[in-house]
Amino acid sequence: MLRRASSLSVFFSAAKPSLLNQVAYGLSFLEAFSTTVLKPTEAGILSKARTPTINFVLGGPGVGKGTQCARIAETYGFTHLSVGDLLRKEISSNTEYGEMILETITKGKIVSSEVTVKLLKSAIESAETDRFLIDGFPRSEENRVAYEEIIGIEPEVVLFFDCDEVEMINRVLHRNQGRIDDNIDTTKQRLKVFEAYTLPVIKYYSEKGKLYKINAIGTEDEIFERVRPIFAT
Ligand code: UDP
Ligand code: MG
Repeated sequence: MLRRASSLSVFFSAAKPSLLNQVAYGLSFLEAFSTTVLKPTEAGILSKARTPTINFVLGGPGVGKGTQCARIAETYGFTHLSVGDLLRKEISSNTEYGEMILETITKGKIVSSEVTVKLLKSAIESAETDRFLIDGFPRSEENRVAYEEIIGIEPEVVLFFDCDEVEMINRVLHRNQGRIDDNIDTTKQRLKVFEAYTLPVIKYYSEKGKLYKINAIGTEDEIFERVRPIFAT
């Protein structure tokens, strides 16, 4: 059976409303379960002329991150980097990581930070712009810590698209993108991973005052209107 509405709303219902839906305080920080292993190999992304502006976009499977990111990127001039897409590109180009990534995605688990952060770093470095929306990352505290160690650029904004689980499953099962992980079993697993591993990241940025929670129920246009004020300054 599907679970009832996501426990996310419970997490955030106690937060007082403030400017732009920011849910910025009052949340106890769950124990981090980072087992990080990475060491910085070199000094971050300094091959770029200017320190890039980074924004993270988080939310469960099928919540509409990719759709909204495309609109935000086009309207406000960001480069949209979907980390899921970077990983899928490794699979389709049969790189040394392809097989491991395929296996991990098929199980709905999280690919090791070592691989993900390396791909992300190189995508940031090779982009022509210096303003980024990073979609679907960091997915765990381990991801976040590895990002801080290897890339180390504080995100300005962390968007969190919030939606109940039944709706997320429904969207995933009807999006017809031919993805190997868009089936009921893997999607339930992805939701579990989201709750266990990504929610602590969301709480972390909430406590830092960087989190903007967006109600992701509605039409594409309605949701975009909720996002607009965050970037329209
Ligand atoms: N994934 C990952 N690390 C990331 C981003 C994605 O391991 O930083 C993997 C993970 O297995 C996830 C899958 O890629 O379930 C699909 O991620 P994507 O963000 O494309 O899915 P969405 O949440 O948009 O449905
Ligand atoms: Mg996506």
